Amino acid sequence: MISVEQALKKIENTVKVSTPIQKALAESFGLVLAEDVLSPIDMPPFAQSAMDGFAISLNGATTFTLVGEVKAGDGHKFELKKGEAIRIFTGAPVPTSADVVVRQEDCKANSSTLEVNPLPKEGANIRSKAEQIAQGAIALKKGQLLNAAAIGFLATIGVTKVSVNPHPKVAILVTGNELVSPGADLKYGQIYESNAIMLQSSLKGYGISEAAVYRVKDDYTSTREQLEEMLKAYDVILCSGGISVGDYDFVGKALNELGVEEVFYKIKQKPGKPLYFGKKDNALVFALPGNPAAALTCFNVYVIKALNLLTGKRPQGLVRVQKKITEDFSRKGDRAQFLKAAICGDEVAVMEGQSSAMLHTYALSNALVYVPLEITSVKKGESVECILLSN
Ligand code: AMP
Ligand code: MG
Repeated sequence: MISVEQALKKIENTVKVSTPIQKALAESFGLVLAEDVLSPIDMPPFAQSAMDGFAISLNGATTFTLVGEVKAGDGHKFELKKGEAIRIFTGAPVPTSADVVVRQEDCKANSSTLEVNPLPKEGANIRSKAEQIAQGAIALKKGQLLNAAAIGFLATIGVTKVSVNPHPKVAILVTGNELVSPGADLKYGQIYESNAIMLQSSLKGYGISEAAVYRVKDDYTSTREQLEEMLKAYDVILCSGGISVGDYDFVGKALNELGVEEVFYKIKQKPGKPLYFGKKDNALVFALPGNPAAALTCFNVYVIKALNLLTGKRPQGLVRVQKKITEDFSRKGDRAQFLKAAICGDEVAVMEGQSSAMLHTYALSNALVYVPLEITSVKKGESVECILLSN
């Protein structure tokens, strides 16, 4: 069995960033730029008024002759002589012959003359041409996350397509004879299947809106056949259940028979000890434990890391912060632990009900406290490492 840190390192060494593709800017939210974007234009493309007021050509006096008006979108080019002014509005092009824009609050105007008090400094209230970015300069660098601001910025400079590392095609394989879909009647011995919708929701939160779900009984042949099909069609396969040591756990055997190369199997951790990670050609396979809370923790700690490596996102995993624990904590056994927990301000409270089958307490959590192998107890008020859960 390997440690949590060894497993994370193995993922880092195995997963390569996906081949860049061109995407419409509107479809690039949450992805990462695969190359620098150079600005195709000066932004602003012309000197712009930052205020509603008057553009004036200074002449040493405080009274000016009004010769016209320019509003946002007007293409008319004015030539102002010394001592002349025009009415101007926010966003309108400032004539190159104007020295300054005066706020309308600082002016008195009638139809033909304008008095200004006080006179602002030269250049005031003018957004100069290319002040944000010049044509040909690097607008955003490779590795930049395309968040709302980045997408908005690229739109301001007229970009419509970007080169990005795409999300992988992901599919989920659910195993288990006992599972029935929510909505059906439960017979004795059956439970509702929850991992598929939970993993799909996690993937949606990540930006992967579609993940196909396949279901098999605990049967070697059907597990193998289904996985064989999936390996041909998907970049990332998430198996749920059937990876432990029970007589009816067939996922590991099927993956092995199909030539999937095991990168690791079993981690010294609680929950999620039987986590498996393997690779065949370009397909990555995570076999997650069936217990729902264990499956979600493995997704949050390991699958997110692999997805970030594929898409070039930084940091590679969920954000970790230090918080003070509200109660003493000690653990038995020789496994690192991920504890469902709730952060409030500077403190973190570990939840009651840490069973790997319990999603109820997970739903009330906003973090996982990570207790590494070398730490067996923590006193109330001591700092612990918390992994922030984003969805
Ligand atoms: P397994 O890893 O297949 O041995 O499953 C471990 C536990 O998780 C068992 O109690 C299963 O019934 C439960 N389980 C497995 N898969 C799911 C699922 N998709 N939804 C809900 N519970 C599950
Ligand atoms: Mg099972």
